[in-house]
Amino acid sequence: MSDRLPSHPAEAHIPHRKHFLSDRVEHFTESVIREMTRQAMLHGAVNLAQGFPDFPAPAEIKQAAQQAVAADVNQYAITWGAKNLRNAIARQMGVWQGIEVDPEKEITVCCGSTEAMISTLLAVCNPGDEVVIFEPFYENYGPDSVLSGAKPKFVKLRPPQEENGTWTFDEKELCRAFDKHTKAIILNTPNNPTGKVFTREELELIRDLCLEFDVLAITDEIYEHILYDGTEHIAMVSLAGMRDRTVTINGMSKTYSVTGWRVGWAVAAEKITNAIRKVHDFLTVGAPAPLQEAGAAALSLPPAYYVHLAERYRERRDHLMPALTAAGFRCFQPQGAYYVMADISAFGFDDDVAFARHLVQKIGVACVPGSSFYRHPRDGAKQVRFAFCKTPATLDEAARRLAKLRRLSDSG
Ligand code: GLN
Repeated sequence: MSDRLPSHPAEAHIPHRKHFLSDRVEHFTESVIREMTRQAMLHGAVNLAQGFPDFPAPAEIKQAAQQAVAADVNQYAITWGAKNLRNAIARQMGVWQGIEVDPEKEITVCCGSTEAMISTLLAVCNPGDEVVIFEPFYENYGPDSVLSGAKPKFVKLRPPQEENGTWTFDEKELCRAFDKHTKAIILNTPNNPTGKVFTREELELIRDLCLEFDVLAITDEIYEHILYDGTEHIAMVSLAGMRDRTVTINGMSKTYSVTGWRVGWAVAAEKITNAIRKVHDFLTVGAPAPLQEAGAAALSLPPAYYVHLAERYRERRDHLMPALTAAGFRCFQPQGAYYVMADISAFGFDDDVAFARHLVQKIGVACVPGSSFYRHPRDGAKQVRFAFCKTPATLDEAARRLAKLRRLSDSG
């Protein structure tokens, strides 16, 4: 390859030099979400791009982590997770989902739900398998499928037409996506980036397809406790027929505001868990041992903690959305998770990437271009995503800066 210059005379004989990169990585690009955080730092912008809280994690959890380090829980935990944490996960699955889980045989603790997802896909997919994904989708799912050799098949979520409406999908389009090659469906509810919370009726439809086509549901439920307006989270694993064909993925990051700790988990039937554990062990050996102990403490927080968490997030949502609307965005109100997708048609930009660049460089606010959540960039060209997991002061500063945006309709 011409992009590698000879550095040593002994290389001169090689006619066609290898380009050293796998075809796999050439099939996807870097994460735009993470790139936007770097852009925000470069331009001193308010970072409403990457979804991480800018407020402190609960004091009890931090103390539990400090105590674990001081007590010398500093060597590898059991590769599939510290016993205390697995017991706590199993207990809470019983409380929240009404599902009995065997902590010895059905839980794998990973380095974040991100690793739980890729380990699961690597554990279950063969080349030629297809994985159904709703789009817009959290950007990792595309590369995750490619890395596992599977082919993603996308089903559209359509934005609501009316104010306060929800994103919907076409039942026939979903049915068409399932066939004999379908190995799994990835479902993220509450959903990133749309804020959609799938209803029981929708989940039952997906369940029926999983049963008909012998398909596994891999559900990312990381925003399980961040719900608004009385919306209910229903876990796929709790639906009749899904107990042994669901991999439930969750983690500490969002529920306990510790995205940097990298503690997540996958809960699945024993046979699937054994496969996930093998992949996980060779990929990472294990998640950080002292932080797993702190995870056990976190999962023991009283129910009031979760009520408070959701209420604070509702306040943040209701803080940012009016500021976005006043600045000229058309917002799609989320029912869960901590993002808002917004339509940018009013600003007259060529596309979402040009708009996001303008916003971070000239206005001083970072968002994520909508196209990063779609297979075809044009489908997201009129949308951007804002994260509102931020303090009131951060949201105020963002609102102050967003007020400087000019719309097409502004004169002069
Ligand atoms: N889930 C968060 C988001 O969508 C953070 C993603 C990440 O960088 N791991 O922004």
